[in-house]
Amino acid sequence: MPLTLTRSDNVPRLIRAAPIGICITNEAGILEMVNPAFCEFYGYAEEELLGRSFALVVPEAEREAMLRRHRCFMQGDEEHDERQEWEVVGRDGETHSIIAESSRLKDDAGRLKRVIFITDITERKALERRLDFLARHDELTGLLNRRAGMARLGEEIARARRQGSPLCVAIIDLDNFKQINDRHGHATGDEVLCDVAARLGGELRDYDVLARLGGEEFLVILPGATQEQAHESLERLRTRIASASPGRSDLSVTLSAGIAALRADEACHVLLERADRALYRAKQDGRNRTQAG
Ligand code: GH3
Ligand code: MG
Ligand code: MG
Repeated sequence: MPLTLTRSDNVPRLIRAAPIGICITNEAGILEMVNPAFCEFYGYAEEELLGRSFALVVPEAEREAMLRRHRCFMQGDEEHDERQEWEVVGRDGETHSIIAESSRLKDDAGRLKRVIFITDITERKALERRLDFLARHDELTGLLNRRAGMARLGEEIARARRQGSPLCVAIIDLDNFKQINDRHGHATGDEVLCDVAARLGGELRDYDVLARLGGEEFLVILPGATQEQAHESLERLRTRIASASPGRSDLSVTLSAGIAALRADEACHVLLERADRALYRAKQDGRNRTQAG
């Protein structure tokens, strides 16, 4: 039966029909009314929620802070609490992201109540996290992308200068990679790229940085490494890649690398140009080798 909005006794029905979760608590935060959308969102039956604290759906670590906030709101002068994003937990233990807004009201007997309106933004937050990840990472290999790699290089150079410590960069380019695509197809080429990226990452120290510059080119940042140490590291990577066929026994891939050690007052792009020239020499000298610039 359609609602007649002029009749005030239809308000409870309107709340029950609302597509967003709505609850009413007393001054102590005890739930006195929950609508079906609220119950469905949290996975509880109405009778399991009524008479319990709204903090039931707040992660345990944040419960105390949330209840303090509730008391402040109930004792304060503001009629509306700020729109806030929260992490909450449903009955199944799953975490959801919500936007909560609330109003402070008095009932007919003058008792203070809090009405909380919740909107589920879990999917939007997941999408935001994904977009944030994609803005900084390469989708194929999961490594930092060119932009993020360059940003890290800028930060690492600044840190090395502050601390007076050495820093090396290396540009890696896979050898004759076009042949892998031509012989085995682009999809296999992609698999090889992923495999190489994973193995390079596995060989590096925790504080080294690996990024995909594009195509079959990678940037390695080696904070704290002298040119000799960087050469050793890159040789380890090179032999590791050359010695194991990625996944398939009929495929082998090698890499060439150019290294440059940071000089005083040298601009970032000059450092990279030196690494690139060293890489070019490694290619000219026959590939599958490391050269320092
Ligand atoms: P060199 O030893 O001189 O580096 O030879 P190369 O064949 O590796 O060099 P070139 O730059 O001519 O070719 C790079 C190839 O890498 C071209 C392209 O087919 C392939 N490539 C670049 N990006 C991707 C990718 O994302 N996936 C796949 N499968 N192949 C890619
Ligand atoms: Mg290339
Ligand atoms: Mg290449």
